[in-house]
Amino acid sequence: MPGRVALVTGGSRGIGRATAIALSEGGHRVVICYRDDHSGANETAATILAAGGTGIAIRADVDDPAAVDAAFQQVEATWGPVEVLVNNAGVTLDKLLLRMRDGEWTDVVRTNLYGPFHTIRRVASGMMSTRFGRIVNIGSAVGLLGSAGQANYAAAKAGLVGLTRSVARELAPYGVTCNLVVTGPIATAMLDAVSPQRRNELASLTAIGRLGTPDEVAAVVAFLCSEAARYVTGAAVPVDGGMCMGPDPGLVEASYSVDE
Ligand code: NDP
Repeated sequence: MPGRVALVTGGSRGIGRATAIALSEGGHRVVICYRDDHSGANETAATILAAGGTGIAIRADVDDPAAVDAAFQQVEATWGPVEVLVNNAGVTLDKLLLRMRDGEWTDVVRTNLYGPFHTIRRVASGMMSTRFGRIVNIGSAVGLLGSAGQANYAAAKAGLVGLTRSVARELAPYGVTCNLVVTGPIATAMLDAVSPQRRNELASLTAIGRLGTPDEVAAVVAFLCSEAARYVTGAAVPVDGGMCMGPDPGLVEASYSVDE
């Protein structure tokens, strides 16, 4: 599917950057949307250009519908309507519930949940009229499991399940799919604040026993954005190293010897 116009929010680093690069490798023209990290977004675009792809960085705070509208207008004037949308921008502001201020709740829900609402609402009519669209929202295992100290983030990510499935139902008749990638612990800047000990604990909560990489998420997102994924919609696809399976309840000693 060469040459689709793809927009990735939060493309200045981490999972968003890896996704922008993966979409470019799939032949798409990629818009890298960011809020603060101008040089990071330009670095993503430069990586794409250096590999022979097409990418531009555009600033847009997804919290702000007017900024989202302005960014989409700029893309439409340059390349035409956005056909592939990846809602990846996300923030955390962790606090135990009793200590959480209104602003800490609102800021996290605004970016992680209102942001995708703003972009999807802006992009939907164009996708419907051309009878093609791919929307992928980046969720979190925390949205399914809950997480002490992350009520704001977990609520926002859980909200993405309902948003994704409602949009999937509304837009399916128009050739537009909408899916959620339920992401486990991934080694990005978002985990920089987490102590090495806690990172090891997070890794041990997965069946695979390590943190994931941005590329491992991006590969699944790129598939969901592809022509081949046309029969996949409303799905919550885990890329979590098996974390959401929960701990193994088996009673059998479950390790193999090297000879087997
Ligand atoms: P990073 O902190 O590395 O990157 C976050 C990105 O979001 C940055 O590019 C940042 O851009 C952008 N961003 C933040 N707020 C806004 C905003 N209001 N408008 C536009 N862009 C914004 O995080 P990750 O790469 O780790 O996370 C990407 C997604 O994956 C998030 O949705 C996160 O919740 C989710 N996720 C991550 C996990 C992990 O373990 N890393 C686990 C589960 C889910 P800028 O700095 O320019 O503002």
